[in-house]
Amino acid sequence: MNTQLPVDAGLITNISDVAQHRPRLLVVDDQPINVQALYQAFSADHQVFVATSGEQALALCASRRPDLVLLDVVMPGMDGHEVCRRLKADAATADLPVIFVTAHNDEASETLGLDLGAVDFISKPINPKIVRARVRTHLTLKAQSDLLRGMAYKDGLTGVYNRRHFDERFAAEWARVARNGTMLSVILLDVDFFKRYNDHYGHQAGDECLRCVAATLKAGLKRPGDLIARYGGEEFVCLLPETPLNGALHLADALRTQVAAQQIAHAESSVAPVVTVSLGVSCARGDGAVSAGVLLLAADAQLYQAKSNGRNGVCGIDVQVAEVCPTGANMVKPAYAVPSSAVGPPSGVYVS
Ligand SMILES: [Mg+2]
Repeated sequence: MNTQLPVDAGLITNISDVAQHRPRLLVVDDQPINVQALYQAFSADHQVFVATSGEQALALCASRRPDLVLLDVVMPGMDGHEVCRRLKADAATADLPVIFVTAHNDEASETLGLDLGAVDFISKPINPKIVRARVRTHLTLKAQSDLLRGMAYKDGLTGVYNRRHFDERFAAEWARVARNGTMLSVILLDVDFFKRYNDHYGHQAGDECLRCVAATLKAGLKRPGDLIARYGGEEFVCLLPETPLNGALHLADALRTQVAAQQIAHAESSVAPVVTVSLGVSCARGDGAVSAGVLLLAADAQLYQAKSNGRNGVCGIDVQVAEVCPTGANMVKPAYAVPSSAVGPPSGVYVS
């Protein structure tokens, strides 16, 4: 169970994942005696992190990703209410359940806390049994909502993210890129001659082929921020934050090689005796001149180009540079060594 939708580590998709997870609690209190009481109540079967100030609490929420926060209200500097307000204002921590632990259990204080988004109140001095029961309830609710969310964002056939999640992440990443002026690359790819594969081997084998391709692509993405999703049919899409064109091209070619290396027999392919993919790469800097839609269209055009070049290849474009220098296709990498029995043109990485 995670406090937010994991960026890349795979979503929780079955209840056993939840059961095996040791809940992570963040205890926030400026008084050591209170910290100690809560630590003792939970340390045997929870991972407990401790913060003694509001600032420290926010830092730990970002770095440790707790499942639940037990939050003191009255602290010097940033108080519990402000910490809660900030957690709820940040998309990364908005779903993190917060329980206020406070000596101020009057109606006004409780109402304010609930208005700020807290899920519960616990009075000091704490009763360990009651605190444990309430924490267990909220952790269970959180686990259930994470599970549902995980299912809603996954492609049922291949287990990678679905189009819906890609669309959301793409919009969020593009907004971030536009804010920071960094680079974003997209790889759009599809399985070569997949219709022929289905016609020849049957739909069940086709499904198995897509699962294998998806697993290979997923394993090929190494960085925590990278994302792979099924775009539709036999098409997949990768989102690569802060990646220039060259890096994205190299990754795309590595993915292409890794899919071919799975040696999934494809008797009807005109390009190789095994299943291969064609990939289109686009890259842009967030300078306000290019829209997210243009970036995606450019990747699609490059994918079309890779298909036209004979499939089992990679084509890429830097959307901004292309406007200045619209040169033709230049091969920048030697051809992929297709098995000697293969027919069709050589493949490789092209930049247009
Ligand atoms: Mg206090």
